[in-house]
Amino acid sequence: MKNQLNENICPFCKSPNNCKMESGSKCWCVDVKVPTQLLDLVPTEFKRKACICLQCINSYKENPELFKSNYCEKLLIEEKDEF
Ligand SMILES: [Zn+2]
Repeated sequence: MKNQLNENICPFCKSPNNCKMESGSKCWCVDVKVPTQLLDLVPTEFKRKACICLQCINSYKENPELFKSNYCEKLLIEEKDEF
């Protein structure tokens, strides 16, 4: 296994995503609109499993190109088999 799947960890920055869904209360991610393009960047094995953290959503909105160069190059190396 290359990546250990942890649904409490953001797939991009690997910090806790603070998703509250599991504890039964309403999560912040219900109120935040996550850009579809950002969701598309999530590695397949994390999709619909791990939440993106608020910090990453904000930094993507601020500067998508910078965000991609920070995170996606590394992710694409792992995903390149698909292309
Ligand atoms: Zn993050």
